[in-house]
Amino acid sequence: MKIKLLDWLVSPCCGAPLRFSSLDQMPGSAADIETGALACSTCGHDYPIVRGVPRLLPPGQGDAKVASTAASFSYEWSRYPGTPEEDERIFLEESQLKPEDLKGKLILDAGCGMGRYSMACLNRGAEVVAMDLSMSLERLVEAARREPNLHVVQGDLHKPPLRKGIFDLVYSHGVLHHTSDTRKAFMAVSELVKPEGLLSVWLYGMAGKYEEFATNPLRTDRAWVGEHRRLAWMIVGLRHFISDSIRLFTTRLPLAVAYAVCYPLTVLGAIPGLKYLTFSVHPKFKVRLIENFDWISPHFQFHHTKEELASWYEEAGFDVLSYLPHGLVPKPGILGRRRRG
Ligand SMILES: [Zn+2]
Repeated sequence: MKIKLLDWLVSPCCGAPLRFSSLDQMPGSAADIETGALACSTCGHDYPIVRGVPRLLPPGQGDAKVASTAASFSYEWSRYPGTPEEDERIFLEESQLKPEDLKGKLILDAGCGMGRYSMACLNRGAEVVAMDLSMSLERLVEAARREPNLHVVQGDLHKPPLRKGIFDLVYSHGVLHHTSDTRKAFMAVSELVKPEGLLSVWLYGMAGKYEEFATNPLRTDRAWVGEHRRLAWMIVGLRHFISDSIRLFTTRLPLAVAYAVCYPLTVLGAIPGLKYLTFSVHPKFKVRLIENFDWISPHFQFHHTKEELASWYEEAGFDVLSYLPHGLVPKPGILGRRRRG
């Protein structure tokens, strides 16, 4: 970890500043700290720095469901075959941002996984703090040693160990619904954005009320959904029911077995019509396999509507700038700006 990161961190126990509590020697300002510990300046609770990453998980976090969700993502993200070009394209689309929105900005990747989008922002000239609960962030350790503007933190989205109101942009893509309480995680993350800063979030969607479904923004290549809204709404509802039924047992399986269950779903995902009953329609087999796993395996997985997400933005003091267009399955995504003061 770089010394400058300390200014942006707080303890997850008290929200108080942290100090270095055990270092072999005090490093120079540009030095990387590979191992050591940080202590809460209020209660003295100690947090280790391991492989250059401060491990700032809230004390006493013994929740087995949280641990199993984290383990599921640790398993998954070590297998993802993305390219930097594809990652950037997806990031810009899902964040509803332009490349020029990133340059020179301080950005938090809230739930970074193996850091595909952190790297995309870094490549566009941003300074990035990448945070995750799971061990998938180990994939970023090498890059953080190399890159002066990349920082990696292990932390929990419900108690992010970061100072409030300091980030130009916080994004959390496809993550908050995997915590025990999506709204609570949203509120905690939204506080980290500075006044007039941006917050980009997308969540797993659901059919919801038909009147809400009927006003969902669609991608231009999914116009047919708009022409058959009522049917689309029923398909999404059916898919949700199938998903919940499958997850009743897959979330209890050992991870390797759950991974095996994904193979038949992945084959089905290439068949027109039937593919919408699976959890990934990506053209690449390997990506479909991982996305199916991402769907059936994590313990926590909640679904929301754009109306629900918009109400959280409002409550947290943000103006909605734009909604993410999507296909048949709703993907409530909002880019918002924090109001001044
Ligand atoms: Zn404390």
